[in-house]
Amino acid sequence: MTGLVIVGHGTRSAAGVDQFAALVERVRRRGDVGDVEGGFIELSRPPLTGAVGALVRRGHRKLVALPLVLTGAGHGKGDIPAAMAREQERHPGLTYRYGRPLGPHPLLHTALEERIDAALAGADRAGTGLAGADRASTGLAGADRASTGLAGADRAGTWVALIGRGSTDPDANAEVAKVARLLWEGRGYAGVEPGFISLASPSVPAVLERLRRLGARRIVVAPYFLFAGVLPDRIVARSAEFAAAHPDIDVRVAEVIGDCDPLADLVRERYAEALGGDIRMNCDTCAYRVLMPGFADKVGRPQRPHDHPDDPVGHHHHHGHDHGHGHGSVAVVGGGPGPDDLITVRGKALLDAADVVVVDRLAPQGLLAGLRPDVLVVDAAKVPRGPSMAQEAINAALVSHARAGRRVVRLKGGDPYVFGRGHEEVQACTAAGVPVTVVPGVSSAIAAPALAGVPVTHRGVAHDVTVVSGHLPPGHPDSLVDWAALARARGTVVLLMAVDTIAKIASVLIEHGRAPETPVLAVQDAGQADQRSVPARLDEIGAVAAREDIRPPAVFVLGPVVALPTTGPTA
Ligand code: SAH
Repeated sequence: MTGLVIVGHGTRSAAGVDQFAALVERVRRRGDVGDVEGGFIELSRPPLTGAVGALVRRGHRKLVALPLVLTGAGHGKGDIPAAMAREQERHPGLTYRYGRPLGPHPLLHTALEERIDAALAGADRAGTGLAGADRASTGLAGADRASTGLAGADRAGTWVALIGRGSTDPDANAEVAKVARLLWEGRGYAGVEPGFISLASPSVPAVLERLRRLGARRIVVAPYFLFAGVLPDRIVARSAEFAAAHPDIDVRVAEVIGDCDPLADLVRERYAEALGGDIRMNCDTCAYRVLMPGFADKVGRPQRPHDHPDDPVGHHHHHGHDHGHGHGSVAVVGGGPGPDDLITVRGKALLDAADVVVVDRLAPQGLLAGLRPDVLVVDAAKVPRGPSMAQEAINAALVSHARAGRRVVRLKGGDPYVFGRGHEEVQACTAAGVPVTVVPGVSSAIAAPALAGVPVTHRGVAHDVTVVSGHLPPGHPDSLVDWAALARARGTVVLLMAVDTIAKIASVLIEHGRAPETPVLAVQDAGQADQRSVPARLDEIGAVAAREDIRPPAVFVLGPVVALPTTGPTA
């Protein structure tokens, strides 16, 4: 049977570690999941690597890895998969299926309901009861509590503040709001309002104040937390402060969900689902995928494992979520045609997070000024060794910096895959086992004509546009371009790297049937302060370009779109 590794984030709270261990033991005792281990990715023992190692030693090569997290925030989405990737490096042939975050789930809502009812039945008020740390360490397991069977009237007079961890990931915060709603539905509480103990608002005092203004006389603060820890303790402390300031309001704090049968049931369910089902997290509102207002820096951000203090291959770092010491990666980023602000939001975010930037001559140089002073900038044009070796040397530099644990951005002009040799670099990284991602860019092939006022297509004028490298002239034995076909086509042709070959190209196009009077526009230094464009007929463009001293970087755009009337500043 497929082994199960239950993965926790880790906590500084001994009580929290004990509750985690007790839950792993509870799942193990039930015997319906073959072989179970639990481990943490940081802060606490046992480390994940120990748990995975134990399962591997017992012969497992396929695992279910279940993140013991309530919401799909950064730990579940990024840190735990990254830590598992490291385990796969350690144990070649190891595969795993990744389970979903636990919540929202009716079993959790039932457990929360029990904790709330127990708080209502209990006498201790936060303002007069135990200090936070003491309460957290009392650790009564929910299952030990008898159902209190509260009268409906008690609930009708009770407001619940459901307090989540809080995340910089709005999707995770929205999950807590959803749980608050689901907890309220049909259970007869006066209302359930979500709040957060860190990173998100409303804070605990803010949500309690909101409930006070709504007229609440009795409030149960329910931590939406699996186990004891620093943050649940903080919820108790904030609630106690509020209670002390408002003696007229009955404020109680419920226990965390804790080690209990419903949680073990849910672990079992997520395990079965990972084995047999189609596991998906909610990607529609994933901040790593979709640009959400204020969260641009997350989009496309590579995920790296936390280093565990007890993990022999790692080294210690503070839990400050500064992932600078994680595993390296390469992002091949299209920087756009030149201006600083024609890079994509994703590309800029990766650039801002980079440790090393390997930059091309045509990449937007202005962006380099905004890098942190400690970022290493490597000028790819000056990579040592002869020109024929240059690409190999660049590939080697990308791989070696990434292997040294650095976040490498390969910043290129335009789009990395339009005559940018971007895919060669991607292949080199992949072959070296270095995680690599590509960020498309605004290609000069489209942007340079546009910045000069020429649309590469136009309804009723051109229904095709062909982007062609003029690097090799027509007739060159290595050329892969069918110049005769381009001559017969009616639409737009955009020539890149053609400054030296434009005369030859123009005459071959005319020879095969393009009209000599076809309009051409040469656009040099598109997007830069010294951008200029020079028009000519196809049969004259070679001579005009030479006479006007058109120099790289320049594109030539030809076809009927060039004759369209333009208005505005770029005309
Ligand atoms: N990957 C790049 C193209 C690389 S090939 C892209 O997608 O834009 C280099 C050629 O791109 C140059 O020879 C020139 O033809 C064109 N080019 C790049 N930047 C340009 C600019 N700002 N203005 C005009 N042409 C440019």
